[in-house]
Amino acid sequence: MLTTAPRGTKDIMPSDVSAWRYLEETMRRICAQYGYKEIRTPVFEHTELFQRGIGDTTDVVEKEMYTFTDRGNRSITLRPENTASAVRAYVEHKLSKDDAAVKLYYMGPMFRYDRPQAGRLREFHQFGVEALGVTGPNVDAEIILLAVQVLQSLGLQDLKLKINSVGCPKCRPLHREKLQAFFRPHLEELCHDCQGRFERNPLRLLDCKNPHDHELGMGAPSLEECLCDECKAHFAGLKELLTAAGVDYEVDHNLVRGLDYYTKTAFEIQYAPLGAQSAVCGGGRYDGLVKEISGDEDRPGIGFAMGMERVLLALEKQQLLPAFDEGIDVYVVCPKKERFTLAFKMAIELRRAGLKVEYDFNGRSMKAQMKQANKFQAKYVLIFGEDEAARGNVTVRNMADSQQQEIAVNDIIKFFQDK
Ligand SMILES: [Zn+2]
Ligand SMILES: [Zn+2]
Repeated sequence: MLTTAPRGTKDIMPSDVSAWRYLEETMRRICAQYGYKEIRTPVFEHTELFQRGIGDTTDVVEKEMYTFTDRGNRSITLRPENTASAVRAYVEHKLSKDDAAVKLYYMGPMFRYDRPQAGRLREFHQFGVEALGVTGPNVDAEIILLAVQVLQSLGLQDLKLKINSVGCPKCRPLHREKLQAFFRPHLEELCHDCQGRFERNPLRLLDCKNPHDHELGMGAPSLEECLCDECKAHFAGLKELLTAAGVDYEVDHNLVRGLDYYTKTAFEIQYAPLGAQSAVCGGGRYDGLVKEISGDEDRPGIGFAMGMERVLLALEKQQLLPAFDEGIDVYVVCPKKERFTLAFKMAIELRRAGLKVEYDFNGRSMKAQMKQANKFQAKYVLIFGEDEAARGNVTVRNMADSQQQEIAVNDIIKFFQDK
């Protein structure tokens, strides 16, 4: 047990880190282009924040949270997502006092006690953005385009963008009535879960994975017919902007988010080659969330989250990860113990000059050290051999073409600085 990481967690080993950094750097670069600033919130928060911010009837809050009582007898939860924390920080630091949009992004580990499966861990990583304080559909279009650009910059084509409007507290009750009228004659045929949802949240009936219920749901009255004028205009505005930006989308009325503070825009980006796990990004507008968390301030917001493990899985599957240069500049070879101090001094000076330098700690044979140099993919090898030592020189070997030359010890730094 001591030598195995807990179930649902995974070490990110040095050989994997380059891919992670590449992903993170791409995300950071595009967020900077769109004017989003990074926020880093705590990994744990008061449990109540997530109960309010995610909704205490959701699976995440009911079954999947890592919750514990700390030594001060507070109920603490490891964050299962980052939106609630970002909104909490927005309120706490009074960012809402600014009239301009507050545009934030985050990336980091999240925690959910879920049944581990491929691409789904208990400690997993999300990248996401939140835009707070803007009502219009332009910011909805902006964050969708940001997400699409991140995925396309990584080389993922064939993306499927699905959008929907989930309405608002003004128009949803009408849809709810129509849905119940539609499903009522079929109530007996529905699965157990759906029978429970019928009264509580009939919108979730459209989400059911049961083939019979899914089939039936296809004919259900769509929310679109019930949208109020404001929601209709918002959705039309979003579609117009996405079309203007040249991004394909599909309207999917079954794309729903069950909670009251989710309003208007909902969207999902799928990458079909991932199969059952094809959703790489999901998000939407949450105009009621700031008020839900702050208790008084009422500010609109929209955001998305992208599963970083999923995106990496897609990049690996499609062989889209670039070749990372892990090689070093110089490997210092010194088989003679009595010359090691000089070789060591040279290695340090080269590092101070900005080069990536390695050498052998154990004073092994010339052959073993040359093997190491290859393993490190060294561009050059510096050989502190006996013959050249007599002349005050070292041998420089260019590993690309195996050309060797003798250079005076004092000229080495200059030799590499001129490269
Ligand atoms: Zn509405
Ligand atoms: Zn069902």
